Amino acid sequence: MSSEITVIRNAAWIAAWDGSGHRYLQGGDIAFAGDSITQVGGRYDGAADRVLDGSRRFAMPGLVNLHSHPHTEPAYKGVREDHGVPEMYDTGLYERMCAFVLDAAGRRAGMEMAYAELLLSGVTTVVDLSGPVEGWLECAGRSGLRYYIGPYFADAGWRIDERRRLRFEWDEAGGRRAFEAARRVMEEAERHPGGRLRGIVFPGQIETCTESTLRDAAAFARETGRPLTTHISQSKVEFHEIVRRHGRTPLEYAADIGFLGPDAILGHAIFIDEHPDIRWRGAADLGRLAESGASVAHCPSPFARYGQAMDHFGRYRARGVNVGLGTDVAPHNLVEEMRLAILLARVMAADYRAVDTCEMFRAATVGGADALGRADLGRLAPGAKADIVLLDLDHPAMRPARDPLRTFVFEAADRAVREVFVDGRAVVENGRPLHLDPEGAAAQLEESQARMLAEAPGRDFLGRAGDEIAPHSLPL
Ligand SMILES: [Zn+2]
Repeated sequence: MSSEITVIRNAAWIAAWDGSGHRYLQGGDIAFAGDSITQVGGRYDGAADRVLDGSRRFAMPGLVNLHSHPHTEPAYKGVREDHGVPEMYDTGLYERMCAFVLDAAGRRAGMEMAYAELLLSGVTTVVDLSGPVEGWLECAGRSGLRYYIGPYFADAGWRIDERRRLRFEWDEAGGRRAFEAARRVMEEAERHPGGRLRGIVFPGQIETCTESTLRDAAAFARETGRPLTTHISQSKVEFHEIVRRHGRTPLEYAADIGFLGPDAILGHAIFIDEHPDIRWRGAADLGRLAESGASVAHCPSPFARYGQAMDHFGRYRARGVNVGLGTDVAPHNLVEEMRLAILLARVMAADYRAVDTCEMFRAATVGGADALGRADLGRLAPGAKADIVLLDLDHPAMRPARDPLRTFVFEAADRAVREVFVDGRAVVENGRPLHLDPEGAAAQLEESQARMLAEAPGRDFLGRAGDEIAPHSLPL
């Protein structure tokens, strides 16, 4: 690792970390040597190999995306935004996953496009939860982003054979093989030079893995010091399935089998016992979560599209639950998720004080970093990784920049992102990703999406065409 010294000179605004929270500094330098920040604020008088003018920039820490599926989700653009299934409590997740399967070329094109989109929305750390595909680690390594590589494994697949019923097709031997393959992919990722690629243990869903797989996954994560994640409390269908099988809420079951802990990240923990749509007699799940130290990966977009929301962000935080943010679906734009998360929390609480910009920024930075056990990410402070995003205060969408963080979150979003550094290396310059080619990948994604939709009749339980499952927004 080079120890080249870079100075961002006289940054107009800085979101600096003071040890307990982010605070604004005005008119100061940021210096980093190699991959580490050495100074935030004040005047840097030492030697420098590279000096950038910060006088029209707002410098902030790179955002942490705690939950995403960047390979497949871009292929659902124009497909999933209005799609739902009333007989499955409105979620379209299961029907879509059964009927629409993207090929490997489409998944490679999807990641190329999504990684670029993530960088351009100020994300520098991505939890990438995906089925292993050739080219994954090459693209991740080349992009310059920091990753937690979570190769998917599960013991069962979802099947639908009639409109109101989700079935599970169990193949425990196949699940074990996928678990073994996931270990190999994580090990290969961690051999990548520079340490930007790490593994995260990812048994796919609480209801598609056996109890022994969930226990083994948690034990394996803890033995090897890797974080652990799964989908849990993500649908009413899943909630009722776990109650039927185990007589407990999904979070109660996860706590009982030892899955929860400070290293566990739960996507999405929305349908908990006290959620108004569940109406369970009792309100113990948030206490369980807080007591365990587990974190929630909060991704409001996919749920909001079904008319659903966490109830509510402020309540989780007040109960002591660490919450980070993720994109889950396309667009891979974490700033838009921050805005939506603030608005939905206020609507669900019927109180604008449910969460403010400062608290949501904390979730999108140190909330995610803490969930991953990384005190060196999500903050601008000496000793932290040089993962830095510079926003353009000259962009009309950022003006007037009376409070640049608010303007970024509520108005400008990705339009303001000009330069991004990860580990001190420039990965975005002049609003362009340096090592990714999203335009070049787009034609392949279009071709693969068309094939995915054309193959739907052979996969869908009613033999429907892709356009029948997900009709166009306007009559065609
Ligand atoms: Zn997900």
